[in-house]
Amino acid sequence: MNFEYSDRSLALQEKLRAFMEREVLPEERAYEEFTKENLWQVYPKMEALKERARAAGLWNLFLPKNYNEFSPGLTNLEYAPLAEIMGRVLWSSEVFNCSAPDTGNMEVLAKYGSPEQQEAYLHPLLKGKIRSAFLMTEPAVASSDATNIEASIVLEGDEYVINGRKWWSSGVMHPNCSVYILMGKTDKTAARHIQQSMVLVPANTPGVKVLRPLEVYGMVDSPHGHAEVLLKNVRVPKENMILGAGRGFEIAQGRLGPGRIHHCMRLIGAAQRSLELMCTRVATREAFGRPLKDFSSIRQDIAKSKCEIDQARLLTLAAADKIDRHGIKEAKELISMIKIVCPQMCCNVVDRAIQAHGGLGVSQDTPLAGFWVYGRTVRIADGPDEVHMHQLGRNLVRKIS
Ligand SMILES: Cc1cc2nc3c(=O)[nH]c(=O)nc-3n(C[C@H](O)[C@H](O)[C@H](O)COP(=O)(O)OP(=O)(O)OC[C@H]3O[C@@H](n4cnc5c(N)ncnc54)[C@H](O)[C@@H]3O)c2cc1C
Repeated sequence: MNFEYSDRSLALQEKLRAFMEREVLPEERAYEEFTKENLWQVYPKMEALKERARAAGLWNLFLPKNYNEFSPGLTNLEYAPLAEIMGRVLWSSEVFNCSAPDTGNMEVLAKYGSPEQQEAYLHPLLKGKIRSAFLMTEPAVASSDATNIEASIVLEGDEYVINGRKWWSSGVMHPNCSVYILMGKTDKTAARHIQQSMVLVPANTPGVKVLRPLEVYGMVDSPHGHAEVLLKNVRVPKENMILGAGRGFEIAQGRLGPGRIHHCMRLIGAAQRSLELMCTRVATREAFGRPLKDFSSIRQDIAKSKCEIDQARLLTLAAADKIDRHGIKEAKELISMIKIVCPQMCCNVVDRAIQAHGGLGVSQDTPLAGFWVYGRTVRIADGPDEVHMHQLGRNLVRKIS
């Protein structure tokens, strides 16, 4: 393992930090207020921020090196610290065209899309002109086991006919969301892992009905939201199938590795900023005749948080390095480990920071409440904690016993 950042990554880190200070942080509160009061509308300054980020060369940074023509071509290890910096403001990844689920969808299209699919959807996504969603989870079945998915994709002549009900489809509510990558079954009689397929569904296809936005602890995450979507006799050309019928699982495996590094590094950024806010707060506030910083319990909370953040960061960098040098398959265990460790770490650190802030910590006047919700939901999304522990435990016993 070599965690020395390359000169290219270091230069981008410096540039990104300066951009965040200058352009993003001053907008943080105004963005939150606007999106609460103007549901499903894009923050008026977002397009200008995107333009400036693009002009500064801070664009599509997530896209790995084999897609050079669209991006600076960073390795996962080079990109990881950049994702951490973006994680310091909940919504900032979009400014750099680095936000989920677009990042995962772009990687799928870049890796597996046909030239026609890339022209129609990947290129506008890479330019930040449209947004997208990933529709896998279904309310009727335990979707942490993707083999349970029931949506049907049936070939009829030159078209696939899709029927199903999806939910937690992040991004669907965004006014620029133009396309979904939908996972469903093309052959329910095939072997367990070749029943599934992924197909492109333009958002405006007849038969697609967005039923409602879902709330996360009472928040709707406008403008992208998380929606419940009904698909009734939705017809798409057979050319919209990605890679080929029965290859959905294979695509899902390739999609999730780097995406988990991104989530984990953003969570580390959120935790790191929470720790900094906690230190600043306790240094300037007094109770019972002493600054809060002098209470032993507060010092312990700060010390524990620092240890946990640095442990999580090193583990995540190890996973990024392993993906870069040995591929996603070889990095599977480390990817499970960071997915188990980082969301819980973020919840622990943010919770301590909230406690140290008192009532302010749960209010809208700091980013802490939003950070906690982010950490809490990532313990479920992209595979709940227990699923990763189940797989990691099984693999370790097989390997070691
Ligand atoms: C904010 C948010 C955004 C999301 N965005 C998307 C998206 O864009 N697209 C999309 O398709 N989905 C998305 N999801 C859905 C998410 O991926 C699923 O909720 C997740 O995979 C779990 O599926 P489920 O909700 O059906 O839970 P279930 O599968 O019903 O599982 C419930 C619980 O059972 C337990 N469990 C499951 N398996 C095991 C096991 N092996 N051992 C022990 N316990 C176990 C776990 O505690 C788990 O949380 C999002 C979810 C959230 C909250």
